[in-house]
Amino acid sequence: MSKGGARARLRAHFLAHVGEVLEGDDLRAVAGGISEWARRVRELRTEEGYLILTNNDRSDLRPGQYLLESPRPAPAFARAISKETRAYVLDRNGFTCQMCGAVAGEAHPYDPSRKTRLHIGHIIDKSMGGSDDPANLRAICSVCNEGAANLTLDRPSSQKLLIQIRRATSGDQVQAMAWLIRKFPLQARDFLAEK
Ligand SMILES: [Zn+2]
Repeated sequence: MSKGGARARLRAHFLAHVGEVLEGDDLRAVAGGISEWARRVRELRTEEGYLILTNNDRSDLRPGQYLLESPRPAPAFARAISKETRAYVLDRNGFTCQMCGAVAGEAHPYDPSRKTRLHIGHIIDKSMGGSDDPANLRAICSVCNEGAANLTLDRPSSQKLLIQIRRATSGDQVQAMAWLIRKFPLQARDFLAEK
């Protein structure tokens, strides 16, 4: 089965099950059992703009579960970033992940079994109004892009986090809040209900 075939089948499956929690084992079967099924699923998000949520986005999803919230891909998705802009941003960032410092083509510091692949990421997410302007773009490795490096970096304590958040602009505080509410929707609802 061709790569495009697997991705197209996955896209059709997600679109037929919008709003339903899908299990990785089922998605692997839909993709024809190929080992790269999870990468094809990520491409639907990173290349086509379908907001397919995982455990990294919502704590009520278990690892290996996926959820497409809306059948419509994000408008004017990052596909609009030109080759020239990509090359400019990668060069400006020294072909180095701006989150963990991994260098393109070298073994990844947190997962040495993987060669570092760089993507272009948005500093302010498009869903938060961030633009495709080079000033809002940065090189980010696939490990950080998936949120995995966060697990291996030293974790800041809640006290340190709160100090940082209190010092931030109110706009950045609202962004932090929005991210937390998306990640912990059930806890946010319970918290508000207590008031
Ligand atoms: Zn990284």
